[in-house]
Amino acid sequence: MSDATFVRQADSTWALVDGTGRLGASRYLAVSAFREGLAVVVRFDATAVLIDTAGRELPLQGRRFVWMLPMQDGRAPACTVEGEVGSVDRDGCFWAEVADPEWQARQELTRVSHLLYERGYNVSIDGNVSWRLDDGNLLITPTGAHLGFIQPHQFVVVRPDGSLLRGERAPTSEYRLHVELHRTRPECRCVMHAHAPHAIAASLAGVNLHEMFVTVAPVPTTKYARISSEQSPAVLRPYMDDYNWAILPRHGVVAWAPTAWDAFLRVEGLEHYAKVVMSARACGPIEPMTPEQRIELLTFWGLEHLAEDVPAHRGSTGTE
Ligand SMILES: [Zn+2]
Repeated sequence: MSDATFVRQADSTWALVDGTGRLGASRYLAVSAFREGLAVVVRFDATAVLIDTAGRELPLQGRRFVWMLPMQDGRAPACTVEGEVGSVDRDGCFWAEVADPEWQARQELTRVSHLLYERGYNVSIDGNVSWRLDDGNLLITPTGAHLGFIQPHQFVVVRPDGSLLRGERAPTSEYRLHVELHRTRPECRCVMHAHAPHAIAASLAGVNLHEMFVTVAPVPTTKYARISSEQSPAVLRPYMDDYNWAILPRHGVVAWAPTAWDAFLRVEGLEHYAKVVMSARACGPIEPMTPEQRIELLTFWGLEHLAEDVPAHRGSTGTE
């Protein structure tokens, strides 16, 4: 393999230095790292081509190659995603346009991750999401990722037991929750975890959202388990089959759904519900529903079988 590389020119363009140290005549707007002897370059007409280490151009379209990222500050970030057909943006990033389910899942997880941050459900490096791929492996947030700025290629792939299969970093330390939910509810391909502030506040203040109804289905709160601990799946397990979400006290929320968008809607709905209840509680006691209203609403949701499981609110919240 040649040591060909790109060097930045004074005018901010890139030039190829081939394996013999010779500077190529061509200049490029953006370049990727070399990978398996090939790099993606963006020419001045904004089209992208593959070049080999001698600078020879090869057609990009229809060619299978490893997805490559732009050189950043002279460093070439490694990358693990493959694509067949796609386009390269002005930063030199290749965006696959193939109907590749993994690529689509990466994009979808990126979209909902950004939304979770923008809506204030996660800050800093809180929260994580996962998606069960067609082969049963899980696409999941890496450890230490900021969901507000995560990019599609940064998600890692773990085996169904949570061990790393592909990716640059270890999976989130909360992977156990994801592994257990994907195993228990295979029809729910997305699992989403967020540190939604009002839901956490409710658990800190001892407000049991499970017994108050607004517009959403009942929300159970699990027993306490330390974040990232092996106990997390165990405390959630009693709710995995009958519910699609839960509050982890002093920690956050988890939602699971067939699509990433539906999982986001659940986190959003749960947090909004918690916000309404906490706002009402700050103003005084919350009026309980009558038993008939409660059963009628549970029946409306198709959850009448949970009537025993969902305690009736007795109107004491806010006065204790
Ligand atoms: Zn967490």
